[in-house]
Amino acid sequence: MHTIIEPFRIKMTEPLPITTRGHREAALAAARNNVFLLDAEHVTIDLLTDSGTGAMSDRQWAAMMLGDESYAGSASWRRFEKTVREITGFKHIFPTHQGRAAERILAATRLKPGDIVPNNSHFDTTRANIEYVGARAVDLLAPAGRDLYSNKRFKGNMDLSALERLIETEGAKNIPFCMITVTNNMGGGQPVSLENIRSVKELLGKHGIPLIIDACRFAENSFFIREHEPGYSDRSLLEIAKEMFSLADGATMSAKKDGLANIGGFFGCDNDSWAEDFRDLLILTEGFPTYGGLAGRDLEAIAVGLMEALDCEYQRYRHATVEYVAARLVSRDIPIVRPPGGHAIFIDAAAFCPHLTPSDYPGIGLVNALYLEGGIRAVELGSVMFGKPAASGGEIAAPHELVRLAFPRRVYTQSHFDYVIEVLDLVRRQRDRIKPYRITKQAPFLRHFTAHFAQGEIEAKRGA
Ligand SMILES: *Cc1c(COP(=O)(O)O)cnc(C)c1O
Repeated sequence: MHTIIEPFRIKMTEPLPITTRGHREAALAAARNNVFLLDAEHVTIDLLTDSGTGAMSDRQWAAMMLGDESYAGSASWRRFEKTVREITGFKHIFPTHQGRAAERILAATRLKPGDIVPNNSHFDTTRANIEYVGARAVDLLAPAGRDLYSNKRFKGNMDLSALERLIETEGAKNIPFCMITVTNNMGGGQPVSLENIRSVKELLGKHGIPLIIDACRFAENSFFIREHEPGYSDRSLLEIAKEMFSLADGATMSAKKDGLANIGGFFGCDNDSWAEDFRDLLILTEGFPTYGGLAGRDLEAIAVGLMEALDCEYQRYRHATVEYVAARLVSRDIPIVRPPGGHAIFIDAAAFCPHLTPSDYPGIGLVNALYLEGGIRAVELGSVMFGKPAASGGEIAAPHELVRLAFPRRVYTQSHFDYVIEVLDLVRRQRDRIKPYRITKQAPFLRHFTAHFAQGEIEAKRGA
């Protein structure tokens, strides 16, 4: 059978707002042309993020009814701990309210000013938490990962020789731990091979540097390994995940991704003194170690969700959905990062809008066109999100002008994605009409969330 179907049926529905172009024009104008400022009730297909936006299963909802809300030592905590330990094997496990709480406590307890933390690519909250305590977050993505169009597999891999050079020049004692993010979110969900993780671990081991896995999409990464890494095609996703975690000294996790839950996270490690320090700060800011800022019912939903994410049929359908959309965008000449990642498709907005320059913010133009044309919400990852002020007064553009379509888990069906493809095709055929935008108001940091934009005019004779 060639058709891969959604391995679930729907027993509860949520209406989608079907809007008119006039309605969307008014809503976007009221949101100052920034889709982050739109009310969700004006969005038809919301591809802003895959974080916490998934649909829970009947088993998760049923488990929530068993939530034990005891302050200490609840039965829900025991079930959560047992599941997380079965997958990760860690001796110490701490729930947190989301992934960034685990990152914050890890950074606060293990780092001091001047320390260095390498990673294939730091997620933005990971980087911010490391920099907040005065340490330096260094990205060491292997060269293939930096080429948008190379069709290589495992474009999330760490650059081993760069890691070796970093350890030599900076000294192992200044690197309290190294991280690997699976899949690499900043790179569009590109996977990391077990071979790469093993080699990184070997190198770190020689220098006594612990390895922490940022495990948000560990199950999607396990599926990529099963599909594409030699020797794993007959292994279960649980076995692959176990092998991956066996190479790590600890892990941070956002259950809003492969926990298939709407909130939650955890930290796990083997080292007793790391655990003691972590526990002390957890109690101070998150909660007692058997709930860590979550309700008992959340712990139940996560325990069930983690195992559902490791179901091969679920992952097969999820990856097939991304591949389905990617293939149709490529055949319509829409420039996307290849191969597509596990949770998102990235469109190259600079190539999509050859009449615009980075200072025109082509990503914002494309995001807004998708909203106006079809009520679809995407997100810019270009010079608005990553541009930096230049000494001369202007701005240094980001390396790429990308727009991300993130795929919420188990939420949209194939016809929703057919609609997304149709809207993108329509926008592409009218792309000359995408106008430049300029920023009229911005915050000193993380400006993309709250900036206001105004449409400009396309200057004559510009660019291609
Ligand atoms: C989402 C995410 C985080 C942070 O998790 P939150 O639950 O949003 O705090 C950290 N790392 C990666 C790779 C992520 O995708």
